[in-house]
Amino acid sequence: SRIEETDNKVNAFVTLNKENAPRRADQLEQEIADITDVDDLPILAGIPGGIKDNICTQGMPTTCSSKILSGYKSPYSATVMKRLHAAGAVPVGKLNMDEFAMGSSTENSSVQLTKNPWNLNYVPGGSSGGSAASVAAGQVVFSLGSDTGGSIRQPAAYCGVVGLKPTYGLVSRYGLVAYASSLDQIGPITRNVEDTADVLQAIAGYDEMDSTSANVPITNYREALTGDIKGLKIAIAQEYMGEGIDSQVREVIEQAVKQLVSLGAEVEYVSLPHTEYALPCYYLLASAEASSNLARYDGVKYGIRAEGVKDLLDMYKKTRSEGFGDEVKRRIMLGTYALSSGYYDAYYLKAQKVRTLIKQDFDNVFAKYDIIIGPTAPTTAFKIGEKTSDPLTMYLNDICTIPVNLAGLPAISIPCGFVNGLPVGLQIIGKAFDESTVLRAAHAFE
Ligand code: GLN
Repeated sequence: SRIEETDNKVNAFVTLNKENAPRRADQLEQEIADITDVDDLPILAGIPGGIKDNICTQGMPTTCSSKILSGYKSPYSATVMKRLHAAGAVPVGKLNMDEFAMGSSTENSSVQLTKNPWNLNYVPGGSSGGSAASVAAGQVVFSLGSDTGGSIRQPAAYCGVVGLKPTYGLVSRYGLVAYASSLDQIGPITRNVEDTADVLQAIAGYDEMDSTSANVPITNYREALTGDIKGLKIAIAQEYMGEGIDSQVREVIEQAVKQLVSLGAEVEYVSLPHTEYALPCYYLLASAEASSNLARYDGVKYGIRAEGVKDLLDMYKKTRSEGFGDEVKRRIMLGTYALSSGYYDAYYLKAQKVRTLIKQDFDNVFAKYDIIIGPTAPTTAFKIGEKTSDPLTMYLNDICTIPVNLAGLPAISIPCGFVNGLPVGLQIIGKAFDESTVLRAAHAFE
């Protein structure tokens, strides 16, 4: 009923699981009827959650908010869905996103325009805009998003909620529709850090169906939330606090730093010198991988097929021309160009080398510090329509989040204040597979 009350304004959901969700809740009630000790309950027993529409869900369409997949139903569920089921969660529907997760405002959805619950004239961020808006509007307790260059953390920041991108390999990508496979990672969006710890507990862990899944021990994330960060060594990257960062956002982050110091943390400024190359490096690599991943949408195997075609080639062309939106086409063209013979070394290979330098920047800082902090995004949410005509300005929005994906690290965005009535997110970046420290710092701050 909360969704019915609010979603005509927010437009977060693209599919509602109206019949199955109540049925699943009833079934669960019976399954847990005999459990008397609360500690024996599955970790998300009866908790309603929303799912970004690029995560495969048997029984509900999975469209990536793209025309080319309209009405598409996956024959199998993603590993995260199976794990949510085992943990007792109740998926209530699928959430709007930028088409194929390409974007920073959810305005690239071919389905609908999702609004920021704090101010309906503003974007919710993206690409997991539906996931962040639905948690912020109190429609669900948690949602799942995906983060390739910031798509969980940036919308979480814009909507004033908590969003975690786990370490690459911690959460299975099996059943996540691929955008840029070497960067994509699924993660939770919630209203507080404890809930994020619980959802992560449910979905993290090795999966033999994903060849990049890491076989590492999974810690108890709740136990990490001690409230104690005395002596924690925190680095502030000067590159995330300088040029291009809104001065009011910077002030809010500086306040947050003071609070962390008052909690006993030791804070120092450091440099991540290759940050300025992160954006071009990312947009080359992500587009290259996307152009390859999206080759599968040809009118044969998935989704729609154009009508009135002459022959096979014509069918490919018409289906892809009609099915993909402008931003997706832009990325496919850029990526195909970067991978074409004669250009591969100059662009793709060069970008891979720059990626290594960016990762080394982080390694150097993490040799001395436990976490790195800064703003999640350079500004607060922007107005709907403000950046749609200029893709480059839109790309600049990802400057603080993208380096983290290139290095495969975990990072969380937590609310830390407001500028002109719109939320500001504090980003906390950790060492690979050290989600516990990231969550501990976030929880202590909260
Ligand atoms: N805004 C970035 C892009 O358009 C990040 C998207 C994402 O993380 N999925 O590629």
